[in-house]
Amino acid sequence: MSDSTQNNWHRSTRAVHDGTRRSQYGEVSEAIFMTQGFVYETAEQAEARFENAGPDEFIYARYGNPTVAMFEDRIASLEGAEDAFATASGMAAVNGALMSILKAGDHLVSARALFGSCLYIVEEILPRFGVEVTLVDGEDLAQWEAAIRPDTRAVFFESLSNPTLQLVDIKSVSALAHAKGALVVCDNVFATPVYSDAIAQGVDLVIYSTTKHIDGQGRALGGVILGSRELIRKTVEPFMKHTGGSMSPFTAWIMLKGLETMALRVKAQTASALEIAQKLQGHAQLSRVIYPGLPDHPQHALALAQMGAGGTMLAIEIKGGKDASYRFLNACKIGIISNNLGDAKTILTPPAFTTHQRLPQDQKDALGITPGLVRISIGLEDAGDLAADFIAALSH
Ligand SMILES: *Cc1c(COP(=O)(O)O)cnc(C)c1O
Repeated sequence: MSDSTQNNWHRSTRAVHDGTRRSQYGEVSEAIFMTQGFVYETAEQAEARFENAGPDEFIYARYGNPTVAMFEDRIASLEGAEDAFATASGMAAVNGALMSILKAGDHLVSARALFGSCLYIVEEILPRFGVEVTLVDGEDLAQWEAAIRPDTRAVFFESLSNPTLQLVDIKSVSALAHAKGALVVCDNVFATPVYSDAIAQGVDLVIYSTTKHIDGQGRALGGVILGSRELIRKTVEPFMKHTGGSMSPFTAWIMLKGLETMALRVKAQTASALEIAQKLQGHAQLSRVIYPGLPDHPQHALALAQMGAGGTMLAIEIKGGKDASYRFLNACKIGIISNNLGDAKTILTPPAFTTHQRLPQDQKDALGITPGLVRISIGLEDAGDLAADFIAALSH
């Protein structure tokens, strides 16, 4: 097993090697331990393991599994986190992180601009269990400061919001939260682990839907929660392993293979996103091109300081509302209409009518989710081909 704590390897080296556990066969590609349980040599060993299992001693796949442990160790190493717990989906991770740290009577402050299912947990589920929730505009530090109270247990936000690509200033919000003793929980999906320094910037629990850039090829649902060993093993793990949202070994293997190529893919997708955003900027059919890597994005400087790049997602607003945006979507020949992101294939989404369909109109307006808005997850196709296809589709 290679361990980054014993070397100074760069992320790209660790992405290929860290966490590896080889069986007696010396396999090159990580083994899929497709087993729910593990054999104890003696009754005494069974008793000892239930009493105190070591890091490479497994009991039951819902608690842990060698393939899943390889993925957890590798992503923890990449993220600069002490530990990680892998989950069945991104939402199992969001739910697990919040439910494991909150109890009735606690106060949570959350950014308003959230993935639909995250908003459902924050607005519908947590209040049912006696958690008081205050929603704020994530990019407005004054609102965070006013909302965080001495009894605030945690703050929650997406560091780069879906679909309008607004940033939350991780360092500043973390400082405000920590000053009041609150934990910081960050859904970092849009930033990707490639452009994340979230732990160093103050986040206590970082969450990824591994369905997105970590798989990166649209194959499997998965998630992960990262943080200090103390928080992951003493608070998150007991909740996750007893409530059933653990990652399957087969999924963990897909995600391990994904991590090996993630940086290459994400950097290529980001370079294409910037090139395409530049080519679309100022187009007569567009009222907005939203991309944090463009100098005219209101939080461009923060994007560079926090992520070092603009990321793989962009959003465009087509003049003429729903009709015009549907004509554009239906005329695109390369990008597909779907709702995943971070995939090798470019994916186009009209958020107002799909992912954010259920949001009340006033909230859509407040978040800038207009009928003409199209969210684009840039894939691995040739950037010139994509730009030409978008420009041709805009003339429809
Ligand atoms: C996709 C997504 C999730 C949920 O992940 P699943 O793997 O689909 O459960 C949560 N947060 C954000 C920001 C996402 O994009």
